[in-house]
Amino acid sequence: MFGAGAVTIGTFLRPAVARPTWPEGNSAAVSLTYDDGCDSQLENVSPLLDDLRLKATFFLTIENMRARQADWVGLAKKGHEIGNHTMTHPCRLSGYSAEQFRREQIDPAERYLDTNFGGLKPRTFAYPCGFEGLGRGATNKRVQSYLDVLRPTFLAARTVNGLPNDPRDVMRQRYLLNGFEPTYDLDDPRPAFTYLKKAIDHGHWAILIFHEVLPARRSAGDTSTSVHRTILEHMSRQPIWCAPLRTVFSHVAGTTELP
Ligand SMILES: [Zn+2]
Repeated sequence: MFGAGAVTIGTFLRPAVARPTWPEGNSAAVSLTYDDGCDSQLENVSPLLDDLRLKATFFLTIENMRARQADWVGLAKKGHEIGNHTMTHPCRLSGYSAEQFRREQIDPAERYLDTNFGGLKPRTFAYPCGFEGLGRGATNKRVQSYLDVLRPTFLAARTVNGLPNDPRDVMRQRYLLNGFEPTYDLDDPRPAFTYLKKAIDHGHWAILIFHEVLPARRSAGDTSTSVHRTILEHMSRQPIWCAPLRTVFSHVAGTTELP
């Protein structure tokens, strides 16, 4: 009896909204996200997004982008989303208490973005280096500590791992949304094609992550302009709704039947 009950509960938690409705008759959704506030995104990404009429999410690290603040404000005015990627992009998080992380990395970045960008709030967040734990101790405790910092301030947060997001899981996973860095290991468009196909086949939400976009790849994490263009042009031909993270999240939050 207990076993049968467990199966029933599992079914109940995943309601029969097999394929959510995506705007404009599309089969899936995709958000393009660009991390770190790299100059190369101003030079090599923004013009291509204009050409293809796409809107993206830029997760700014304040110390990286300050020198070109006016250019970033200009980019935001085109309708791109600006998200928070901390003040200094710390990747060693064991020494932070939740309070210290909020005080040094989250709140000042929010104030800076409020002052210089305005825009819709709450913003979205991306984890620097994809690290999802804060402070010391067991993994669960560190993850919980980070979530406790993010929840009061942000609408949602993006990690750097996982398959396209099932809309039925998005509210539960809103501070741990899956993202994918298609060119992290290889400057090759095919992993992105495969990932997008998975999203389309299942009606899920793909979140692509890019860092530096340069004429030629220099190191892991870089994407060449030609591969970046190939991915975006391919994506534009697919039945997939492309919108910033905040926009897709809001769509899912408003339309998905939740348990
Ligand atoms: Zn980053």
